[in-house]
Amino acid sequence: MTHSTGTLYIVSAPSGAGKTSLVKALVDAQPSIRVSVSHTTRAMRPGEVNGVNYHFVDRAEFLRMIEHNDFLEQAEVFGNLYGTSQSHLQQTLDEGHDLILEIDWQGAEQVRAVMPAATSIFILPPTQQALRQRLTNRGQDSDEIIEGRMREAVSEMSHYKDYDYVVINDDFATALEDLKAIFRANLLTQPHQQQRFSQLLAQLLA
Ligand code: 5GP
Repeated sequence: MTHSTGTLYIVSAPSGAGKTSLVKALVDAQPSIRVSVSHTTRAMRPGEVNGVNYHFVDRAEFLRMIEHNDFLEQAEVFGNLYGTSQSHLQQTLDEGHDLILEIDWQGAEQVRAVMPAATSIFILPPTQQALRQRLTNRGQDSDEIIEGRMREAVSEMSHYKDYDYVVINDDFATALEDLKAIFRANLLTQPHQQQRFSQLLAQLLA
């Protein structure tokens, strides 16, 4: 069987839509899928681990990385800088692993421009009220920050039309099945099947 390259996935969602939990559950179920660890200048939240959730860097370091062209994409979200570093990305795909970028719509736009084969997925909450509830339940931010995040969320959600797939996270298990279905369907596309079953295809057509 010939070696097959992984697919690059972009997953975007407003904060509070459950994107991180869904992606984690997906990767737990399918460990060959990798998740890219972004760099950010935002402060670490309780429970977060440097190098696991993000690479936490200061603004000066982030700006140096921009100058060195280290980022495939980078954007400012809610006053903080976020970026996907190039290193490891191509290597991970070449090793045949699917790779997920959890990035905002601005980053998604930049990635699509340079890697048009990327598959993009937008995760939406079932209602605005549910979103607000989820942002409040985190209990880590002030009312003012939550209102700011609600405005950011609405603005982020307005970009869902640029994505290949849309998943509504009302029931977690259903949304997870939807995500798995997207990954499974992608494996069945003709170019992937041609790579995976080159020998079989050669035999069938002999
Ligand atoms: P949070 O600070 O809540 O973890 O993330 C805030 C927003 O930044 C989310 O929309 C998330 O998808 C986005 N984000 C996280 N990492 C990156 C990245 O590397 N690039 C871009 N463009 N956005 C990112």
